[in-house]
Parts: sequence; structure tokens; C-alpha cells
Amino acid sequence: MLLMGSYVTITAAGRDAGPAIDSAFVRLEDINRRFNFRDPASPLHAFNLRDEPFADREIAAVIRAALDVGEAGGGAFDITVQPLVELWGFYSEGRAVPDSATVESVRALTGRDRVVVKGDSVGKLVPGLRLDLGGIAKGQALAEAARVLREAGVGSALVDAGGDVYALGRRQDGGEWRVGVRNPRGGGIVAVITVSDRAVVTSGDYERAFTAEDGTVYCHIIDPRTGRPARALASVTVVAEDPVRADAWATALFVLGAEEGLALIEATGGVEALFVTPALEMRHSSGLAGRIAIDSLP
Ligand code: AMP
Ligand code: MG
Repeated sequence: MLLMGSYVTITAAGRDAGPAIDSAFVRLEDINRRFNFRDPASPLHAFNLRDEPFADREIAAVIRAALDVGEAGGGAFDITVQPLVELWGFYSEGRAVPDSATVESVRALTGRDRVVVKGDSVGKLVPGLRLDLGGIAKGQALAEAARVLREAGVGSALVDAGGDVYALGRRQDGGEWRVGVRNPRGGGIVAVITVSDRAVVTSGDYERAFTAEDGTVYCHIIDPRTGRPARALASVTVVAEDPVRADAWATALFVLGAEEGLALIEATGGVEALFVTPALEMRHSSGLAGRIAIDSLP
């Protein structure tokens, strides 16, 4: 199936694997719809277009996680950037570089401190505030697929949503899973990360980007502090137990860049990262030592 623009494959072995995989896909279809603000079946749709508050346990929990990472990352992760993503044209074909005054006026419509979560209820402090969970929803999808598989008794599986991966347990032969990190500037991989019971999630500038007339490449991740596409990295790959946090942190670290991002992540327990700069230099957090094999690039 297509999940948020990426094909999903689930590899699992064992007697009960078939039905477990089917159940996981049912869960993924549901998440795919309900977390997509463009889908009228999602409560985010009416929230964005008509300022209607809603109650949804699962979405509220993900928003809470998003606000946590927003706080921890100094505002680099912000689920209210939707009007800016729209301004820069990443939801449509009309991609163009807006002028600074427009960027500033649209940026004034955003702000993660204007989202209110109380229990399962989600509201906004100002009309017009819009949510985009595109930077974290795939993490929830990976988390739920893994939960469904585990509850069905599957002890070994790999869930792969276009390179964003959850590695459940160990491989059939007892070894840990080996997850490749894609070369953000061409074919092949730049590193292999060895994990079990971990999510490996990448944010990169190659996913959805456009090249302006002057040759500048603009990608779909916005720096909420400037209102402009982030440019510090080619990609960043995050390894963490919780796929939701992994996904949010990948987007946040992509905004922060290698220098600031590395300092922050070293001080954050349970989250590791590999940064690939636009010059294809690689740096990783100390917790990946012994788990990462860097390929020499041509
Ligand atoms: P990801 O591929 O997980 O890094 O998510 C990128 C998507 O998250 C974009 O397509 C936007 O929908 C949304 N987004 C862009 N910039 C941000 C940001 N600074 N914080 C949170 N979400 C963002
Ligand atoms: Mg993300």
C-alpha cells in the first residue's frame, strides 16, 4: 500500500505471520486516512478549514509527542508550519520562491504554542491555525504496525515505508537487522546501521524539492524560525526505540543541522543520529559507535 507517499512492505516469518501482516496493513490504512489533513475523513480536515476542535485519543497523543519534540528541539519541529509549506508550494505543482514580506506574514499564522491538547481533545488558541502531521505521522504508522505484529505473536519482522524502517526483534538467523542509509545525492547507500527493536527514520532534501531559477534547491522541510526551507543538511537518519519520536526528531534535526543537532542529540537520551551534510560529510552521535558502518564514497 501507499502510506504518505511511500510504498510499505512488511517482511515477517513464522506460522502466524500472514494474518498478522494483513492486520498491520488494516491499521496502516486507517492511520493513513485519519492523519492526513487533506482527507475529509480526518478530523484534521475540519480543524484546519473550519477551526473545529476535535477529540481523538490517537491523534492527540501524537500531537503531544510533536509538541514535546518541538520544545526539546528549540522550535525546529513545529506541526503548525502548514501555511508555510503551502506558501512554498510543496503540496502542489505551483512551486516558486515567495518574497520576504509574504514569508513573514504567513509565518505569523504559525506557532506551536497556539495548539491546545487536553486529554484527547485538540483545539487552537487562534483561528486559522493549521496542523500538518506529515513530519511525525509515519512514525505513528511504524509504531502501530509493530504493535499489531507483536500482539499477533510475531517476534521477527521488518516494516519498511520507503526507507523509514522499524526493525522488530532479530532476523530469522538470530542476527540483528542491517538497515541501509540511502545516498542523498545518488544511488546506493552511504552507511549501514545494525539494530533490533528500533526505528530508523530519515529526513532528506531529496524527497520533495524544487530547484529555483538561480539553481538553489528548496526542500519540503521548513525552518519555522525563518519560514524558509531548511538547507543545512542533505539528510539525517535517526535511530530510536519509539518510531514517533524518531520521525519527529529526524525532521527537527534536519532543520537544526549537524553542529547544533549533534550537540542537542548527545544530550538527549535514547535518540541517535547520522548527519549527512550537503558536501556528503558524515557525522554521527556517540551512541551509534559499534552499530554503524560508514561506506566510503566515490
Ligand atoms: P519528514 O519527511 O518526516 O521530515 O516530514 C516532512 C513533512 O513535515 C513536510 O512535508 C511537511 O508536511 C512537514 N514539515 C515541514 N517542515 C516541518 C517542521 N519544521 N516541523 C514539523 N513538520 C514539518
Ligand atoms: Mg519526520
